[in-house]
Amino acid sequence: MRRHFAPAGTPVDLASIALGAAGGSLSSGAMEALSLRIARLSGSSGCLLMSSGRAAMTVLMSAMRELGRKTGRDEIVVPGYTCYSVPAAVLRAGLKVRLCDVNPHTLGIDPDALRKMPLGRTAAIVSANLYGIPDDLVALESIAAEQGAWLVDDAAQALGARLDGRPVGGFGSVGIYSFDKGKNITTIQGGAAVFRSLELEAAFHDLFERLPSTGPLATAVLTAKLAAYSIALRPLVYERIQRIGALGLGRTIYEDDFPVCKYSPTLSGIALRLLHRLDAINGARIDNAKRLEDALGSVAGVRLVDVAASAKPVYARYPVLIDDPEHRAASIDALRRGGIGATGSYPSALCDVPEVAPHLAAEDRELPGARQVARTIVTLPTHAYCPRDLAERVAREISATRC
Ligand SMILES: *Cc1c(COP(=O)(O)O)cnc(C)c1O
Repeated sequence: MRRHFAPAGTPVDLASIALGAAGGSLSSGAMEALSLRIARLSGSSGCLLMSSGRAAMTVLMSAMRELGRKTGRDEIVVPGYTCYSVPAAVLRAGLKVRLCDVNPHTLGIDPDALRKMPLGRTAAIVSANLYGIPDDLVALESIAAEQGAWLVDDAAQALGARLDGRPVGGFGSVGIYSFDKGKNITTIQGGAAVFRSLELEAAFHDLFERLPSTGPLATAVLTAKLAAYSIALRPLVYERIQRIGALGLGRTIYEDDFPVCKYSPTLSGIALRLLHRLDAINGARIDNAKRLEDALGSVAGVRLVDVAASAKPVYARYPVLIDDPEHRAASIDALRRGGIGATGSYPSALCDVPEVAPHLAAEDRELPGARQVARTIVTLPTHAYCPRDLAERVAREISATRC
């Protein structure tokens, strides 16, 4: 039988699911313990738990819309290359999306491009920290402060990452985390907003209070899915799962009708257990990323992403850049055929996503940096199920496909 390695994932043992779910549903303290812990690890004064990262982003944007009525600030600056649910949340809340181009070498918002944008109507600037690599958050934080805008530190892929000794998700006024599939820890769905601004926290809380909780049926379905996922991620099982397309792993679609609910106490119990193991889970990914970096640094046609010296990434995936389109496509194909979950990540820059483009100002429709990332990026798996020789196999396949 072949072994297949999923593009991303968190090994979740069945004991953690059972014990965590039992703890979460039997005691009333799991949700509070989880939010306290996440607030503390991000250096925040408060944390509210939601049904997903995009639900947290949506409520945050709605809170910003309310607060912006007084100041006339109704624009949100989003990186030109990030998860599609970020602009979806902005539009769903009735705010305007502005796109800022990204630096195609670092993948994050280019601070020079941001400084050139008119920011007088900007309520917030959103980071991305893709694949767990910290953006230039110090620059984003100071530009936001100068302009009287909030910085939303989107750490949906970067729980546990640090920059200059500070936690990612902890820059600016508010941070977002996700517990979706393929994130740093997972309960299939889940998310959090963490606050360093009492004003934002209060406005978020007003909306939060009126939201329904994730109900018992949805919780049961998600817990069962998590158990299935924890088995599916095993290399011998993943091969078949992928063939039948179950679990919807790896697709990128624009979606804006997702549920916006509070998180579930049962899932909180599971997330809390996973959070206790965060350093070990991230440590395995960091080790695998180091092996990929060592093996791929000298492969012709492959460029590594620039990571700041003061950054401690957590590598939810390991991204590389392959400029030649044929080499890139052939590499992804060859790796997949060999059972290695390589992906082309998000297929488009946000200016080219049909659901986003019609909402954009003319000057935000051409983003060369974001388009370059979309054309060149390849992500590689880093999770703990990856074997030690994965990096050498990846290097061999990518070298062999170059014409
Ligand atoms: C996954 C992700 C989100 C949304 O989180 P969900 O929990 O999947 O809704 C937001 N931003 C980024 C950068 C993400 O990767």
